[in-house]
Amino acid sequence: MPPAVLLGIFIVRIVKKFGGTSVADIDRIRNVAEKVKRAVDEGHEVAVVVSAMSGVTNQLVEYCDDTSPIYDAREYDVVVSAGEQITAGLTAMMLQSMGVTARSWLGWQIPIETSAVHGAARIEEIKTKELLKRMAKGEVPVVPGFQGVVPGTKRITTLGRGGSDTSAVALAAALKADQCDIYTDVTGVYTCDPRIVTKARKLDKITYEEMLEMASLGAKVLQTRSVALAMKEHVRTQVLSSFEDVPGTLVVDEEEIVEQEVVSGIAYSKDDAKVTVSGIADRPGISAAIFGPLADAAINVDMIVQNVSREGLTDMTFTVPRGEINRSLKVIEGQKASIDYKSLSSDPNVVKISVIGVGMRSHAGVASRMFRTLAEKGINIQVISTSEIKVSVLIASEYTELALRALHTAYGLDAA
Ligand code: ADP
Ligand code: ASP
Ligand code: MG
Repeated sequence: MPPAVLLGIFIVRIVKKFGGTSVADIDRIRNVAEKVKRAVDEGHEVAVVVSAMSGVTNQLVEYCDDTSPIYDAREYDVVVSAGEQITAGLTAMMLQSMGVTARSWLGWQIPIETSAVHGAARIEEIKTKELLKRMAKGEVPVVPGFQGVVPGTKRITTLGRGGSDTSAVALAAALKADQCDIYTDVTGVYTCDPRIVTKARKLDKITYEEMLEMASLGAKVLQTRSVALAMKEHVRTQVLSSFEDVPGTLVVDEEEIVEQEVVSGIAYSKDDAKVTVSGIADRPGISAAIFGPLADAAINVDMIVQNVSREGLTDMTFTVPRGEINRSLKVIEGQKASIDYKSLSSDPNVVKISVIGVGMRSHAGVASRMFRTLAEKGINIQVISTSEIKVSVLIASEYTELALRALHTAYGLDAA
C-alpha cells in the first residue's frame, strides 16, 4: 500500500508542468526530478509535462526563419517541437536514475490529437487509457509539452508559443487529475509582471476570468488557451516556483475569492502595432471598407478609434498583430480605390497597457483613474478600449515601465 494511504492521505493525481527555465540544464532537470520523486514517494500518481530548455525554441524558430522566408508550417512544427523531445527524454532518464519508474511519451505516441492548424493547433483529444493504467502502478509518464499529432495525416503539430501550459492543463483534464501544477521562474501570478514592477504583489488566488484577461492581454505566465481550458474543464490550476518552496497562486472560481479588489492586476503587451488611415470620408460603410478586407485576410484587428470628422474627413486608427503589419498595409493599399484615403501610416513602437478586475463590474471610476494617472505623467493615450472587466490603453512603448509603475501605485496594488 502506498505510504499516502497508510497515512490516511488520499492519493492525488497530479500533472506537474515545468517551464523552460525549470529544465534549462541538467542540474535543473535533477531538481525537477527530485520534486516529482517526492510526490511519487508520498503515494501520488504523477504525470509530468516539460517545456524545451529555455532559449531552445527561440533558436529553432530562428533556424526556420533563416532557412526560408516562407516555410512549410508542417516542417516548422517538426523543427520547433524538437526541444521538448530532448527534455522529456532527459527527465525520464533522471527519474529512472533516482529509482522512479518513468518513460517519455511523445505527442504521437499517446496520442495527443490536435487540429491541423500547424503552428497554432488545438488539442482535440488525448487518449489516456494506457497512461492511467501505468500511473496506477506507479509509473510516471513524461510528456513533451507544446506538441501533438493530426490523426488523419499523422503529422506533428505545435500549439503556439507558450503551449506547454495548454498541454499540461489538457492532460490534467483528460486524466481527470485533481490538480495541475505549473512550475515556473516566479513564485506565482503577481499583480503585474514582477520583472518590471518590483513592488508587484503575489496573489494567493486569482479568478479564471481575470487570469484569462491577464493572459490574453500579455501576462505570459500562462498561455491564454490553457486558462480558457482550465476554466471550461474546471481544472484546479496552481502557478508556483521550481526554485523556491513557497505556496504559489491558485486559479479559482469567483466564489472562492473572499475579498475582491476592484483592480486585481495590470498587464502589458508589445505584440501589436498601430495603423492610421487618414483623410477618409466620414460616410456609412467606411469602416466596412477598411475592416472587411482585413478580416478576409484573416488579420485580427484589436483596438479601434475613429476621430471626430472635420469637413467630412476623418482618421481611423487601429491595432493589428505586430507580425502582420506589412500584410495589413498591403491589404489597405489594395483597397485605395474604395477607401479613398489621403495617407496611410504605421507605428510599431506602441504598448497596450490594461488594468483588469472583476470588481470593475460594480465600481465606477476605474477608467478615469487610469487616464488621470497617465496624464499626470505626461503620457499621451492613443487608443482606448474597454470591456466588462478591463480597460486598455495604447501608448508609446518608451513609457511602458513608467506607466506600469504609476498605475500599480495608483490602484493601491504596491506591496507593503
Ligand atoms: P515558463 O518558461 O516557465 O513557461 P514564462 O516565461 O512563459 O515561463 O512565464 C513566466 C514569466 O511571466 C515570468 O518570468 C514573468 O516575467 C512573466 N510575467 C508576466 N506577467 C506576470 C504576472 N502578472 N505574474 C507573474 N509573472 C508574469
Ligand atoms: N517551448 C515552447 C515555447 O517556448 C512551449 C513552451 O515553453 O510552453 O514557446
Ligand atoms: Mg510559458
